[in-house]
Amino acid sequence: MEFLKALGIAKDNCGTSTGSVWINTKGAAIPSYSPVDGALIGSVYATDKDGYEQVLHTAARAFAEWRNWPAPRRGEVVRQVGEALREKKQWLGQLVSYEMGKSLQEGLGEVQEMIDICDFAVGLSRQLHGLTMHSERPGHRMYEQWHPLGIVGIISAFNFPVAVWSWNTMLGWVCGDVCIWKPSEKCPLCSIACQNIINEVFTRNDVPQGVCNLVNGGRELGEWLAADTRIPLISATGSTRMGKAVGAAVGARLGKSILELGGNNAIIISKDADLDMSLIGCVFGAVGTAGQRCTSTRRLIIHESVYDAFRDKLVKAYGQLRIGNPLDQNNHVGPLIDKDAVNQYLASIEKCKSEGGRFVVEGGVMEGAGFESGCYVKPCIAEVSNDFSIVQHETFAPILYLIKYKTIDEAIAYQNGVPQGLSSSIMTLNLREAEQFLSCSGSDCGIANVNIGTSGAEIGGAFGGEKETGGGRESGSDAWKAYMRRQTNTINYSTKLPLAQGIKFDL
Ligand code: NAD
Repeated sequence: MEFLKALGIAKDNCGTSTGSVWINTKGAAIPSYSPVDGALIGSVYATDKDGYEQVLHTAARAFAEWRNWPAPRRGEVVRQVGEALREKKQWLGQLVSYEMGKSLQEGLGEVQEMIDICDFAVGLSRQLHGLTMHSERPGHRMYEQWHPLGIVGIISAFNFPVAVWSWNTMLGWVCGDVCIWKPSEKCPLCSIACQNIINEVFTRNDVPQGVCNLVNGGRELGEWLAADTRIPLISATGSTRMGKAVGAAVGARLGKSILELGGNNAIIISKDADLDMSLIGCVFGAVGTAGQRCTSTRRLIIHESVYDAFRDKLVKAYGQLRIGNPLDQNNHVGPLIDKDAVNQYLASIEKCKSEGGRFVVEGGVMEGAGFESGCYVKPCIAEVSNDFSIVQHETFAPILYLIKYKTIDEAIAYQNGVPQGLSSSIMTLNLREAEQFLSCSGSDCGIANVNIGTSGAEIGGAFGGEKETGGGRESGSDAWKAYMRRQTNTINYSTKLPLAQGIKFDL
């Protein structure tokens, strides 16, 4: 496959790197099978304790140098990373699609997101500004500044195998941090490709070895990172189960964490919705990436007056979906990541039925030619009640739940009535309803949209969610502040030393 060669991916790959230096480790080989056709694409050697220690030492040494590079100079390196990604977009998009299983369009979109965050970070490198305050004491000046934190540990999930790493890394780098990435063990080859792309740019720019580091492995390696006091910030993306473990481990050592965890996202379809326009957002949200986005639409909360009409439109649209190889651009829906995910999908359907759910579009596993990997499933739709335990739970698969409502207050209560709080939307042309949804007594999610779906965030906004989604924010707006430490500085240029609050202390 041409894209593997173009991205420097071999059959067997070192999984541990401190930049252009790859470390031979004695860790087990992690095989990467494509969910597209079940083929073994290649394998990556896991990071062992010695390799991990080498990475940590090199990263700490690199930080001492990198933090002193002027931020705009760091930004210039990130600008060149963006250029390199532009050149490799087609190859990397194909690898994302083949290793993870999302459609080629979405694979390319993911690489575009990397390019976008590079552009954002370049501008940011000239804007890492703090405030200036007026001191209560005469002849004093007070201001705050932002300094780099140190090593940022990035633990990422399989479903965005490259973009989430870049959201963290590009911001971390312009902020003066060095990064250690532990990708998902389900998509390790994407991390090798990214490391190769960065190495070329960094070597050309004499970036200290150890600014861009890679370790590969499973949960245990993630646990090493979370418990490591040499790592001031852990940014972890994945399931709520993982986030609770990482949050506890990092919290126990009073480290900082950014947690980006599971979602259970809903769209409210109001009586005043443009139903035709809403349909696109709902179907893409529910079946895009085969329902494996943290922002996938899992619930539709539909006004009773348009419920039947909208359900019928959905059923018709689902009948037109083409399931198959995601690299073939005629297909809408690719595979799930692996057979475990297929089993979870099947178990959720059974659970839904046992709780009284009524399927208006049936699910099932695809069989026959083109589906040999066993990972392709049918997107399905069930009529449910919001309080079913399965509806309260995030199943990472294309199962869409329909819930009927009478009043907007009831709809918002349903929307908020789950443990997760990532993304939410309302489809309405009614200004009052839209504003109520966006008000402080409206959606409780980190993302709340009007007349667009729940998935497909832009990098310019801060991304993340509340409640069991973890509370972290990444990407745009002022998310960069989480990658830096704030320092308040007071300078006395007078001839006296007055104390704050007028306290007298004479000798
Ligand atoms: P996962 O939790 O199984 O794994 C995610 C990462 O955490 C992997 O790298 C894994 O090795 C590591 N890990 C697992 N247990 C750990 C532990 N105890 N300590 C340290 N590291 C550990 O998740 P997944 O199946 O790869 O991804 C799907 C989940 O990710 C979904 O819940 C999805 O909603 C969530 N997700 C959230 C966002 C977001 O921004 N909110 C984005 C993408 C995915």
